[in-house]
Amino acid sequence: MTWVADAPDFVVRPTDWGAAYAARYDPANGRPIIVPCRKLIVHHSASNQPASGGEAAFSRQLEAYGESRDGAACEYNYLLYPSGVLHGGFGDTRGCHASATDPSTGSAYNSSSIGICWIGYFHPDVNDEPTDEAIATFQAWLGFMVDSGRLTQDVLSYGGSMTGNPGWYGHRDVWGTACCGDTLYPLLPDIIQVGSQPSPGPTPPTPGGDDDMPQPCGFITANAGTTGHHVDGSEYECPIDGTTFWVAPGGTIQWVHGGELDDKMAVERAAGRKTDTWDSPVGSPDNFGRLAGDKPHM
Ligand SMILES: [Zn+2]
Repeated sequence: MTWVADAPDFVVRPTDWGAAYAARYDPANGRPIIVPCRKLIVHHSASNQPASGGEAAFSRQLEAYGESRDGAACEYNYLLYPSGVLHGGFGDTRGCHASATDPSTGSAYNSSSIGICWIGYFHPDVNDEPTDEAIATFQAWLGFMVDSGRLTQDVLSYGGSMTGNPGWYGHRDVWGTACCGDTLYPLLPDIIQVGSQPSPGPTPPTPGGDDDMPQPCGFITANAGTTGHHVDGSEYECPIDGTTFWVAPGGTIQWVHGGELDDKMAVERAAGRKTDTWDSPVGSPDNFGRLAGDKPHM
């Protein structure tokens, strides 16, 4: 068996976006297969959105971030970009996107649901909105998932808040989090359909509480010349395009003196996370433009 062998061509395989852990997502290597599933959980990445063409690099960075945080690799079964590009992640196997306990099984929703992540920040203050391209891809993907029996027809109906019932959920319906955000979640009843069959709408619960992520989810990149001030008042300047920052617990922003998360991880291995040579907290970047959208995962 190979990774979702019958997936339609518009689904980009992990090997085709350059996943570092593609083998792990392949059931041939022993990871538990969780399909058919009766539950679908929708997430957002609470991050910036790459420009069209930048999806593969973004997925590789997400994957490196998830792996460095808690061994979660790319976390989700699928990743959906505003361009309409869809990347495969854990596919048919158990993901790392929803560690809350499913009351119907007594184990984590990771084992009883497929998780798809809309890349973006669909919540105040950024308020990204789902694009037509992403919606079209989502619906085509959902059709494939249902037609192939990976998701049952149950997922076309709302599962409710904190119920464990079969159905579709926003992440907030299974855990105290605002994910998948106030600008995406209310649209899900219209988005989650196959053909012309709309699903019943949710009664949105009040978002609140902390996410189950041990650290916030979000990283940002800045171009060469971006400047800012460290918390001690000293100035910094990003040395190259693609200088990477990440949002640390508590909302401080740390920066990585390089263009790839690999560089950050190498620095940490060599010098420890708290070194102030490379990644000391910064007060705030002064001018990082589009990157202002990045926030902790919520
Ligand atoms: Zn989520």
